[in-house]
Amino acid sequence: MSGAEIKQEAQSLEFQAEVKQLLDIVIHSIYTEKEIFVRELISNSSDALEKFRLVSLMETDHVDKDIALEISVTTDEKDHILTIEDTGIGMTRQELIENLGTIAHSGSREFLKRLAHGDNKDTQLIGQFGVGFYSAFMVASRVQVLTRSYKSGESGFEWSSDGSGSYTISPVEGLRRGTRIIIHLKEEDYEFAREDNIKKIIKQYSNFVPFDIKVNGQQTNTIRAIWTQNKNEITDQEYNEFYRFLTNSFSDPVYRLHLSSDAPIQLNALLFVAGENMERFGLGRLEPGVNLYSRKVLIQPKAREILPEYMRFIKGVVDSEDLPLNISRETAQNSRLIKKISKFLTRRIISFLEEEASRDKEKYQNFWDLFSVFIKEGCVSDPDNRDQLAKLLRFQSSGSQENNMVSLSEYIARMKDGQESVYYINGPSRQIIEAGPYMEAFRERDIEVLYLMEPVDDFVMTAIVEFQGKKLISADQSDLDLPPVNQKEDGAESPDIDDQSLSPEEVKAFTGWMKEVLGDMVSEVQISRRLVDSPAVAVNPDRMMTTSMQRVLQATNRDFSGIGSKVLEINPKNKVIIRLARLRDAGADEEFLRSCALQIADNAFLAAGLPGDRLKMIDRIYNIMGKALE
Ligand code: ADP
Repeated sequence: MSGAEIKQEAQSLEFQAEVKQLLDIVIHSIYTEKEIFVRELISNSSDALEKFRLVSLMETDHVDKDIALEISVTTDEKDHILTIEDTGIGMTRQELIENLGTIAHSGSREFLKRLAHGDNKDTQLIGQFGVGFYSAFMVASRVQVLTRSYKSGESGFEWSSDGSGSYTISPVEGLRRGTRIIIHLKEEDYEFAREDNIKKIIKQYSNFVPFDIKVNGQQTNTIRAIWTQNKNEITDQEYNEFYRFLTNSFSDPVYRLHLSSDAPIQLNALLFVAGENMERFGLGRLEPGVNLYSRKVLIQPKAREILPEYMRFIKGVVDSEDLPLNISRETAQNSRLIKKISKFLTRRIISFLEEEASRDKEKYQNFWDLFSVFIKEGCVSDPDNRDQLAKLLRFQSSGSQENNMVSLSEYIARMKDGQESVYYINGPSRQIIEAGPYMEAFRERDIEVLYLMEPVDDFVMTAIVEFQGKKLISADQSDLDLPPVNQKEDGAESPDIDDQSLSPEEVKAFTGWMKEVLGDMVSEVQISRRLVDSPAVAVNPDRMMTTSMQRVLQATNRDFSGIGSKVLEINPKNKVIIRLARLRDAGADEEFLRSCALQIADNAFLAAGLPGDRLKMIDRIYNIMGKALE
């Protein structure tokens, strides 16, 4: 302030009651996250510069026309002083009184009211809540504000206070346009006069402020608010640099979505999908990755509410002018505007991914390999967007090669005439699924089946229920409604007289006996209309529960047995079944026949991926072999 001559007409004024109340809390109750005062003051400076930029477009007659629009921060470690100065719009005497002596901001007033009614000890909340200019008193024993309005004819003033009830205002000569805030630090807060510390704080919270921020003359914010710029003004290189800064990574993003919208909400968003899914490495759950800005000022890093949880793989920035600067995590949760933004962005991201999927299949496949788990999580957890998310799903399928996954729409587009539903089956691998009994009926009818390989997949399918009007049905369901098989003209193969299919009476007697032998192992034994080769198959009477889901539930919940819930379907055209039924009619060794029946059931369970009773099974197989070798 060299050359500035302070006149002796200092006037002492009382703070408004609410300000006293606020200052009291700020000074006496906040001990954490104090560094946010830097963000608050820089954001005020940034606003002041922004305002000046606007008025200078309209009026030409103003003070210090040609000085650079910037923020200068000076640290004086020796005298424990931090100074933040801008060349913005400045304040007149009247404005000083109104702005720094009263609370005009409705958000702050509301905040105070809540504090008065609520739990005053929750100081962390206070710290997270922006208290604007007054936050300087968290660290200051005294604050001086030297300011000069841009309006020609206005002179400069000094505002000064120790935060304890009153402040003084005095005229000052020789100030240039803008505002200088001089913070005399309290002893326990001397750290805020350390250059490296201040630089770190500025980089963390204010790096994208659209004006140069210089700390002791050195440019400190490196990257501009490119999300508010026009797309064609930004190179790929710049986008990627921004992404790397944002995510602290060295790689480039896979997808990038840069949006700006005026209706229904004013917002700019720059969002990325990383080239790697860190959750895959078992490094724990990803944090939300989107920072919330209002007018280029960071108001919430890694905001939780701005996107649904399953979109935690999205990194980037969302900036809306409509958002108040002083939004806390709590108010964010209840903010209607944030809900609106979240809904809007979620839709846009999903449709963006859908477009990308059709634009470049291979690239999308890469994305799918890495991030499918999040999309599936969304299908289960976000009913509002489930139909849209289902379009993003990709599956292995009996109708295409291993490396060529299909979408539900593709599947539906090539469904057979008369086919009513989309069919899927869960199994550990393509080979195992194809070797199992569930595929027989579909193979015979040339109906495509989606192969699901992850335990979560069946939960996803049962959550979706229906896609484009077609039900999604697990191929291990008992009541499959498959179209009839085209009968071959010549009556197909003619088996030996002995091995002719069982008659309805024989089937009835046989299934009754089977059920008696199996007891609680199954809920029912019935004739199968689906089997072609295998003697038997274990199926589910419950549409909402596939065998794969049962396995998951059994693994995570000891009390969930699922035993006895299966229906065993038997194939009356299969040799093993026919001979077993006929031998029983002929009065063969009951003990041996029972062993065979039990083994048929256990084999069906094994094929379903359910563990049988291994000890019993091995003994039993040896017994059967012994008998066969007699
Ligand atoms: P808010 O910024 O949320 O309105 P503050 O308490 O931080 O609340 O500031 C109150 C007012 O003081 C601002 O609205 C602005 O008009 C004025 N003000 C604060 N800092 C500056 C500055 N650096 N330059 C000009 N005006 C300022």
